[in-house]
Amino acid sequence: MPSVMWKELIAEDVRAKAAENAIVVLPVASMEQHGPHLPVGVDTYLCEAVCKGGAELAVQSVPCVVAPTLWCGMAEHHMAFGGTFTFDIPTYQAVLGAFLNSVKRHGFRRVFIVNGHGGNIAALNAFLPDFTRETGLKLYATTYFEMSKNDLGQFLEDQKQVHHACEVESSMMMVVAPATVKHDRLSEAFGLLNGDPRKAFPANRYDSFKELTPSGVVGDARRASKEKGEKLLRVCQEGLAATLKNKDMWG
Ligand SMILES: [Zn+2]
Repeated sequence: MPSVMWKELIAEDVRAKAAENAIVVLPVASMEQHGPHLPVGVDTYLCEAVCKGGAELAVQSVPCVVAPTLWCGMAEHHMAFGGTFTFDIPTYQAVLGAFLNSVKRHGFRRVFIVNGHGGNIAALNAFLPDFTRETGLKLYATTYFEMSKNDLGQFLEDQKQVHHACEVESSMMMVVAPATVKHDRLSEAFGLLNGDPRKAFPANRYDSFKELTPSGVVGDARRASKEKGEKLLRVCQEGLAATLKNKDMWG
């Protein structure tokens, strides 16, 4: 099977993808602290792995290609820990706008932004109206774990969803980039186990993650395992594949 990864193709093959009206999957992630046990590249590793595997599952049914992963996002809330890059909103919008215009100029008409970082969600949703109007693309944006959110909980012991540097992300990193996981630091890798106290407030507030969870973790990575990681990764890839194949969305 030819690669689904844009960066591995020759330009002629990318032109052929445009000619067959392929969906461009655009992974957008982050480079930010992930506790004492995981590398700062977690969201970039995981988002790309989900997009690659999901596109490989879908490509026989629907033409698709995975654009290079945008490794920087909105991560001000992690800056206090070091190791973190962040955009500001105008720069993030400008970079993504340039990517979408590049894709459009090559003749692609359908783009699926697949995000791997919670801090990007509000920005991406806010950009959608302008991006859609300015480019004329058929454009969707989601976060990879949203497409399978009802299927993740069955594999997890004390959380139902993805948190941060948690049972889910740590397990998946044991599969995607096992050499980067510091098993000897797992015993310290937990935080905010009773949930975010701000959820009870009837208004939003900005806090540095450092104030909320000194370890930099939300959830409990002590529960992570490679076996869970394999199942979680597969479910996320299947969720993406099903979304790419959804004719009501893309038809
Ligand atoms: Zn993460």
